[in-house]
Amino acid sequence: MKLHEFEAKKIFRNEGIPVPEGKVVYSSREGVKYAKSTGKKLVAKAQVKVGGRGKAGGILFPENEEEVGDAVHRLLNMEIKGEKVEAVLLEERIEIDRELYLGFTVDRETRTIVCIGSSMGGVDIERVAEEHPDRISRISIDPFIGLQDFALRDLFFDIGLSGQTLSKAVSIAKRLYRIFVKYDSELCEINPLVLTSDGNLVAADAVLNMDDNAIYRHLEFERIEDSLEFRARKAGLSYVELDGDIGIIGNGAGLVMATLDLVHFEGGKPANFCDVGGGARSDRIKTALELILSKNVRAILINIFGGITRCDEVANGILEAFSQLEIDTSKIPIVVRLAGTNREEGMQILSSMDLIIVDTMESAAKKVVEVARG
Ligand code: GDP
Ligand code: MN
Repeated sequence: MKLHEFEAKKIFRNEGIPVPEGKVVYSSREGVKYAKSTGKKLVAKAQVKVGGRGKAGGILFPENEEEVGDAVHRLLNMEIKGEKVEAVLLEERIEIDRELYLGFTVDRETRTIVCIGSSMGGVDIERVAEEHPDRISRISIDPFIGLQDFALRDLFFDIGLSGQTLSKAVSIAKRLYRIFVKYDSELCEINPLVLTSDGNLVAADAVLNMDDNAIYRHLEFERIEDSLEFRARKAGLSYVELDGDIGIIGNGAGLVMATLDLVHFEGGKPANFCDVGGGARSDRIKTALELILSKNVRAILINIFGGITRCDEVANGILEAFSQLEIDTSKIPIVVRLAGTNREEGMQILSSMDLIIVDTMESAAKKVVEVARG
């Protein structure tokens, strides 16, 4: 589960990492009010859980109170990589001298948590790793020894820090590591970690992604989280968001992955996918459709292989979801492929609905890409 930048920053602040002062607002009126109350120059940041907001126009630099209002208004009407902006973080603008990168993640190769630092912050770190591998330093952390100061000193020296700044960086990294462990993270990242013109280090951005398998240990996020992933888990579904425009529902991880591959192969891009698992009852199908429809999909592909799951149950789920969710298939066409147990009964149930029924996975993928293009 990904946290929003403002949620991650709240945690960072509580753990003693310097973050800019700011406030989350949900309307331009609230924004103007905050701008008036601080009197500081602000930056307005769309709160969406995708990277590269800056480039996508999700970060604005209003020069006065009026412009703050306009900026918030503009951002709240925006959709960034398929995600609607529902909140804007207004923050005190910081004077940037240099942008660094600091992150922790799990390295599957060494099976350890790895600390990554770079002198090239503020840009996509994967690109830096490819194009300037020499500008990246790493520490593999032995879980029994922990993260040691000397290793961090080495790392930050490597990326060009010294003196007081280096000590501050070490302290920030230790705190970020503590957060990583405490929140069962997959990724904990500050990009950019800003060196300000007056010599301070500030986390200008914050990423905290928790391992979904550990979410039961962090139920406190249920409240602050509108999270779809959360709803999915509660309903016993796996739900994942991607960047495209085709929604995919299937049963079983393998089948869903194969479906994604086929859609890609046909030139389509999945917006999200939901694995309804084995024995998918109708209420689960309904929740799955709700989750899929939470993004602006252009078409949906439902690919069910009936084993334990009976096709007629799935069909009933689709029928029920249709009557309750008022899905307009003239706007969002739905391609369905059913195979296996009780297929005929399932088809019978679906025959009254305005769906595109196909026989094979291949034709399903081809068809959904075609209708998504309109
Ligand atoms: P991202 O594009 O989603 O990663 O959003 P970031 O929060 O990382 O911001 C992107 C870029 O905007 C940063 O790398 C900075 O160059 C710039 N930026 C963000 N906040 C500030 C700020 O307070 N002051 C200045 N001068 N630039 C900022
Ligand atoms: Mn960033």
